[in-house]
Amino acid sequence: MANQLQPVRGTKDLIGEDAARHFHVIETARRVTRLYGFCEWQTPIFEDTRVFSRTLGETSDVVTKEMYSFEDRGGESLTLRPEGTAGVCRALITGGLTQTLPQKVFYAGPMFRYERPQKGRYRQFHQIGVELLGPASPLADAEAISAGWRILNELGIAKDVVLNINTLGDAQSRANYRDALVAYFSAHADELSADSKLRLEKNPLRILDSKDEGDKALVANAPLIYAHLTQDAAAFYDGLKAALTAFGVPFEENPRIVRGLDYYNHTAFEFVTNALGAQGTVMAGGRYDGLVEQMGGPNVPGIGWGAGIERLAMLIAAPPAMVQPVAVIPMSREAEGRALEILNLLRNRGIAAETGYSGNAKKRLERANKSGAGFAVLVGGEIRLKNLADGAQEDVTPETLIERLGA
Ligand code: ATP
Ligand code: MG
Repeated sequence: MANQLQPVRGTKDLIGEDAARHFHVIETARRVTRLYGFCEWQTPIFEDTRVFSRTLGETSDVVTKEMYSFEDRGGESLTLRPEGTAGVCRALITGGLTQTLPQKVFYAGPMFRYERPQKGRYRQFHQIGVELLGPASPLADAEAISAGWRILNELGIAKDVVLNINTLGDAQSRANYRDALVAYFSAHADELSADSKLRLEKNPLRILDSKDEGDKALVANAPLIYAHLTQDAAAFYDGLKAALTAFGVPFEENPRIVRGLDYYNHTAFEFVTNALGAQGTVMAGGRYDGLVEQMGGPNVPGIGWGAGIERLAMLIAAPPAMVQPVAVIPMSREAEGRALEILNLLRNRGIAAETGYSGNAKKRLERANKSGAGFAVLVGGEIRLKNLADGAQEDVTPETLIERLGA
């Protein structure tokens, strides 16, 4: 089968246990974010390329190397979304919601990046995420982070994960810090990677996020932002730490967290694990107060995070077993119509039920046993309920059947 069609490199099918894990992550996140008052949005999977190129930063890895951009038949440059925040902010503006704040948004869906595929790194991957648009208070940051922490707890993986937080300060703090970084890295310019030489001119903060080993050695001794924070920025950071403590979210301060995208200020954070090798970041985000304005909207502050579903799905224990539908089995040809009525009745009452499509009663019962169903309903002259776990049987009326199956 040399010419059998293959999935595209870096993509994979979600089938069987992979699918069960994946959707368990999404369902858990949906339930938890509702506890905080988030509403689910879905924005298009492709956008005008400028939605991303203007916002993520011209020196970010995503924009320079990873975007799936193409021209459509009308000659427009479109891009498969590499992340969720820019699309949600675009939608906030398009939907006329910038005066109806706060907006607390949850999303789940596919993202696309042209990267070298490896464990925990794909070209089509999926994220859950939240965006909290409107409030400029560190309480909003703490709420978003707390929701993320609660999701990790409910997934049973909080024990494997550490929250690293940092501040990137406000505009003034960053300008101060930028000067300090330029002075430091300029003195070591010869030792910088080619990418980071460019970053030194365009966005020196980006060097702190470099994956190049030589750069990393220089970064280890680079000045920290804390000495350069304005009073306001320091107070914001203190407010975040106090609120996280009140919410019972444990954290570590890590001055090296700067995040890969350009639009962050104040809070930056990552939940990291040692359990996935190099792909250790499972959930990451920060504050992006200038983003909506940069996209042509009014000044709307925001905070959010995105988390890779594949990485979360690899960390969770086996997902809860699916309850198999009750098997409805006609005992003879003549009983088939009656069996369909019973099948319909069960579904009407919200009880999951299915029936085989062929074979005699014995065959169908064998299949029901194999499927892991808890009960079979044998429909002949009588209706008989059989507990497939212990073999116990009893004759029932339609009403007692519903009662026994617990609707
Ligand atoms: P990394 O440092 O691993 O490249 P990143 O900084 O590019 O991550 P973000 O843009 O912050 O990641 O995306 C948030 C989360 O999305 C990551 O923490 C990770 O869990 C997930 N993620 C990012 N890129 C991929 C990918 N190519 N495949 C699978 N998951 C990914
Ligand atoms: Mg990346």
